[in-house]
Amino acid sequence: MIPFNKPFLTGKETENILQAHKNGQLAGNGPFTQRCQQWLEHKTGCQKALLTHSCTAALEMAALLLDLKAGDEVIMPSYTFVSTANAFVLRGAVPVFIDIRQDTLNIDETLIQAAITDKTRAICVVHYAGVACEMDTIMAIAEQHHLYVIEDAAQGIMSNYHGRPLGSIGHLAAFSFHETKNVIAGEGGALLINDSRFSERAEILWEKGTNRSSFFRGQVDKYTWVDIGSSFLPGELIAAFLWAQLACADEITTRRLHIWQSYHSAFSALEGTLRRPTIPESCLHNAHMYYLLLESLEARTAFIQYMKEAGIMTVFHYVPLHRSPAGLKYCRIHTALPVTDMLSRQLVRLPLWPGLETELPSIIKHVISFPFHKHAIQL
Ligand SMILES: *Cc1c(COP(=O)(O)O)cnc(C)c1O
Repeated sequence: MIPFNKPFLTGKETENILQAHKNGQLAGNGPFTQRCQQWLEHKTGCQKALLTHSCTAALEMAALLLDLKAGDEVIMPSYTFVSTANAFVLRGAVPVFIDIRQDTLNIDETLIQAAITDKTRAICVVHYAGVACEMDTIMAIAEQHHLYVIEDAAQGIMSNYHGRPLGSIGHLAAFSFHETKNVIAGEGGALLINDSRFSERAEILWEKGTNRSSFFRGQVDKYTWVDIGSSFLPGELIAAFLWAQLACADEITTRRLHIWQSYHSAFSALEGTLRRPTIPESCLHNAHMYYLLLESLEARTAFIQYMKEAGIMTVFHYVPLHRSPAGLKYCRIHTALPVTDMLSRQLVRLPLWPGLETELPSIIKHVISFPFHKHAIQL
C-alpha cells in the first residue's frame, strides 16, 4: 500500500530530544522552544512567534486576543478545517461563511465587503494548499472597516505572497506542525503576531494568564496571575523534535516541490477532463498538497476506489462547514456557496511526502489509466 501520508524524519529528531533531557528542562519555553520561535521570527519576519500545542490552539489564542464577545462575527470560508471556525465559536462569536474562488479554492475576496455587518470584527483567511489568498485586497478591506485579519496558515509555512512570507501579513497568524503538514512535530503549532499591541498579552495568555515570561526576563520580581489564559505551550520534547524539522525546512520544501511538479507535468494532457491546481503569479507555494478536481462526486468516488485497488491511498476533504451539524448550529452563511458546494464534491488529494519519489511513476501511471472520459459520459 502507498499511504496517503508518511511523516518525514530528518534524522536529527532523537538526538535533539536527548539533548532536551540533558539540558535539564522538559517543560515548555526552554532552549529548543526559544530556538524554534527565533527561527520562525527570522524566517517569516513576524514580530513575535509563540509555539503552541497545535494550530487549533494558536487560533484559539487569536480569538482570545481579539476579545471577541458573543454575537461578534468573523468572516471566513466554509471550505476549511473545523478549527478555523471552532476557535471563534468557543468565544461565542459567529463564523459567517462566504464562497471560495474557482481557481485557488481560497476565500473569494470580492465577496467579503457584502458580508460585513456592524457585528463583524475579523476576517479569517485560509491559505489553502499553501497558496496565498489575495492579501492586498483583503488587508485593504480590513483597514477600511477596522477589522482584524487572522491568517489560518496551517498549510502555509515557507510559502509567500508577492515576496512576503505567509503568516507575516495579517494581524495574527497560525501555523500547524501536525504530522500531515510540511514541517511536523506530531501535534504542534505556532501563533505569529504582527501587531505589537498583542505581543505582551499573547505571552500572558500562553503562560496560563501569568506574567511568567516577564519574570524570566527579570522584568518583574515575582510572577502572578494577571489575566485569563491557559496552557498553550508545548513541552521541550516537541520543540526539540520540531527544531530538527525547521532546520531542514528548505530541503523538505524542495523535495515536495519536485514531487508536486512531477504530478503537475504528468497530468497536463488530462486538463479538460479534470482540473489541476492553479498557482497565481503572486504566489510562491510550498507544495503542501497536490489535488485534482474531477467531473463529479461519482467520478471521484470511482477514482478513489480505482486507486485503492491499485494499492494507492487517495483522500478527499472537506465536508463544507456550512453543511456540518455544528456549522448549521453555530454559524451562518451570507449567501449560497455554490463554488464550495461544487468543488468540495470534486476534489481528491494524491499522496505527497518526501520519500515518495520512487513510487511516483507508478502513481502517475495509475492516475492516467483511470477512465476519466467514461465517467464524464455516464453522468
Ligand atoms: C491542519 C489544519 C488546522 C489544524 O491544525 P492542528 O495543528 O491539527 O490544530 C487548521 N486549519 C487548517 C486549514 C488546517 O489545514
